[in-house]
Amino acid sequence: MGKVLVLNASYEPLNITSWRRAVILLLKGKAEQIEHNGRVVYGNMPLPTVIRLRHYVHIPHKEIPLTRRNVLYRDAHRCQYCGCSGEDLTLDHIIPRSRGGGDTWENVVSACVRCNVKKGNRTPREAGMPLLRQPRRPHSTLHFEISKAVGSGTHREWSKYTIGLEGGSEEELPNS
Ligand SMILES: [Zn+2]
Repeated sequence: MGKVLVLNASYEPLNITSWRRAVILLLKGKAEQIEHNGRVVYGNMPLPTVIRLRHYVHIPHKEIPLTRRNVLYRDAHRCQYCGCSGEDLTLDHIIPRSRGGGDTWENVVSACVRCNVKKGNRTPREAGMPLLRQPRRPHSTLHFEISKAVGSGTHREWSKYTIGLEGGSEEELPNS
């Protein structure tokens, strides 16, 4: 059975839950149905796919840890200099650590061994190796889950509740 996207009272996505839990929230009057798929589960209640809580729930922001695995995932397992995908991707500091570059989402990218060695202790500009795209901090894990469900076609109707899903996977460059 389907999963249900739970929106906060503010219409921001909050989490993904089972249809059973969603139905309980609806029956208890704690949530309202926003979208359903027309199939009836309970009496005359159609199976929800999106519900919205009646009361706002404050959720502290959860940081995604900067790990090799997460960086490779963000970069779709491709070298951010030459675009090759391979088993032996490394992490490259765009501004080298020896020159003050930090361990941040904005300064660490996936790079193949060849590009990493070629770039050495230089910036992309000095090495003449432009990045394929500007790296940035990924969206929340919930955003990942929602984009997977939208991308695979199981819950296309979720896309309108999240920002930046309809234009494909390419991220916008930060303004600052
Ligand atoms: Zn490369």
